[in-house]
Amino acid sequence: MTDNRLASGVASSAGSNSTSNSGGDISSNISSNISSNATRGTAPLPATLDALRAALGDDAVRIGEQIGEHAMTDWTRHDPTRPAALLLPRSTEEVSRALAICHAAHQPVVPQGGMTGLAGGAIARSTDIALSLERLTGVEEIDAASATLTVRAGTTLQTAQEAAAEAGFELALDLGARGSCQIGGNLATNAGGNRVIQSGTARDQVLGLEVVLANGDVLTSLGKMVKNNTGYDLKHWFIGSEGTLGVITRAVLRLHPPRAARHTALVALDGYAAAVNLLRRLSSRFGNDIGAFEIMWPDFYDFGVKLTGTRSPFADPHPLYALIEHASFDASDDGERFSCALTEALDSAVIRDAVIAQSVADVRALWAIRECTAEFPVRLDAINFDVSLPIGEIGAFVDRCRAALDQQWPGNVSYFFGHIGDSNLHVTVDGHSIPGVDHHAVYAFVYEMLRSLHGSVSAEHGIGLLKREFLPISRSPAELAAMAAIKHALDPHGILNPGKLF
Ligand SMILES: Cc1cc2nc3c(=O)[nH]c(=O)nc-3n(C[C@H](O)[C@H](O)[C@H](O)COP(=O)(O)OP(=O)(O)OC[C@H]3O[C@@H](n4cnc5c(N)ncnc54)[C@H](O)[C@@H]3O)c2cc1C
Repeated sequence: MTDNRLASGVASSAGSNSTSNSGGDISSNISSNISSNATRGTAPLPATLDALRAALGDDAVRIGEQIGEHAMTDWTRHDPTRPAALLLPRSTEEVSRALAICHAAHQPVVPQGGMTGLAGGAIARSTDIALSLERLTGVEEIDAASATLTVRAGTTLQTAQEAAAEAGFELALDLGARGSCQIGGNLATNAGGNRVIQSGTARDQVLGLEVVLANGDVLTSLGKMVKNNTGYDLKHWFIGSEGTLGVITRAVLRLHPPRAARHTALVALDGYAAAVNLLRRLSSRFGNDIGAFEIMWPDFYDFGVKLTGTRSPFADPHPLYALIEHASFDASDDGERFSCALTEALDSAVIRDAVIAQSVADVRALWAIRECTAEFPVRLDAINFDVSLPIGEIGAFVDRCRAALDQQWPGNVSYFFGHIGDSNLHVTVDGHSIPGVDHHAVYAFVYEMLRSLHGSVSAEHGIGLLKREFLPISRSPAELAAMAAIKHALDPHGILNPGKLF
């Protein structure tokens, strides 16, 4: 690598205004209320499938061997299950017809996007009907005056990014699964990704949304206005709702001016306090021109270097590494100011060492280390955590978590990394290193450590199937009751993605 080395509360009766609680009883009541409303655990009636074929056409209703592996599980590879049927609607109207039929039949439906989710949210049971958005694709419009892109939900993130770029704009959302994940899935999970520090989460990109409700009603709010105070902002109920409140069919997304110059640096640090110090220095100098601030602890960094076959640009190992992107609107920005800021940080001993990528190949090589997580499902028996904590507390949490894991399961191999600028820490424990230990025990052990810190059990991947029993660690009984009330109001038969989230 060529480098430029710089030197060597709703219900007050719940009685809690805390964000965490120990109310396991209350949450299990909520779950059982919702599932008892809903869900027939039996295969769809032949009459339901006939009605769906009549409404969508035979080729849009697949059963049995016609359903490929893609529809059976998401990126977690958890419990692959062939759904009872797979629907492939081509339009909002067809989604609406399908849901109206399933609502009348009390038939559970699981919306499926690109199946890159990391919480098991899109996995259907063998008695569920999966509804894939894969035929609902295409960018419908780019409105240069409003700086918006109107897109169908099944369009991949990468396709939407490319369309924005061709029109001279930038879609701020970006994540490693960009080639497969869909805009509908991104919004249903309120995806985060690499640029949250700069432009916010998926939620922050949305101006308008079209959603089909459980009973087939179409809620079209495809406004392009930034300001619109006309009552409840309904789109926010569906963003991050993981397919439990409605099927997203179209969206109007904000576009941004393109960042014309990007500079990427890999920095070696003494420890977490230094990382926060650097983050604050760079933020005060560059504001949201800091486009990524990714922290890698040595276990993760060494693994990423090995996995990608990259040579570490540093001769010596360091306690912490940060991958930082500076993204400027100014095409003539040659990175000198960014480089100076890092030199100053080096001179004042905030950082130990740094390299700045000098070519596109360098940038790719540095990002490949961070994005080696794409290989985790293949290389590891990955027990993944996607938690958030106040930024100042993450370093201490990592130390505590590592010590506790080592005490509980000596010899465990665990990797720590995260989008620290967004208060988001990822931990992956390799189940291969602790043979015979049930994954559930590891989940419970780590999540329990978050309770007293008022941390979140999901920063960005969502609750889905895999984290639902841990939701009460991060949500109070009053919050859970409010969520259940919204779910019941919008989906009284509980047909949409039953067993997820709650
Ligand atoms: C390599 C890799 C990197 C990743 N990096 C990140 C990252 O940095 N940040 C991040 O947040 N996530 C990341 N993810 C997770 C994943 O990509 C995101 O959660 C993504 O938003 C899921 O989109 P999808 O289309 O694949 O959804 P799916 O996995 O198909 O579904 C996810 C959930 O959304 C629901 N859903 C899907 N489409 C719709 C719709 N149209 N209407 C209603 N509900 C719907 C499903 O029912 C399910 O509950 C990564 C995944 C991989 C494999």
